[in-house]
Amino acid sequence: MKEKCTKYEALFTFGNDETLKEHVNSCKDCQKEQEVMDKVSELLKEVRPYYKSKRHNVVKLKAACAVFAILLSGTTLGVINLNTDISETIKYGTTLSAEDYGFPVDSYGFLMVE
Ligand SMILES: [Zn+2]
Repeated sequence: MKEKCTKYEALFTFGNDETLKEHVNSCKDCQKEQEVMDKVSELLKEVRPYYKSKRHNVVKLKAACAVFAILLSGTTLGVINLNTDISETIKYGTTLSAEDYGFPVDSYGFLMVE
């Protein structure tokens, strides 16, 4: 059994399109890498028009971005849960302010203390 080819990343990062294409055509391992990249860019194409047409729907977009981040980095949800700020951003679209929690606030968003 021969070792998996690791040239794809190097060619993708440092090579040009021609050398990458040439190598992908002659290398099965890198063909697989190319397929994964194609799938990712397909998914990105699906999200992009969605972002343009439904800008107000931030929650779903951010959820999609979170899914991408998880897919790309291999990060688990457990790691995100460690960071309360990020998990709240994902769940509610924006980081919650004091007002969102139902506290009485003045026009500057500061808590009103009696
Ligand atoms: Zn290769």
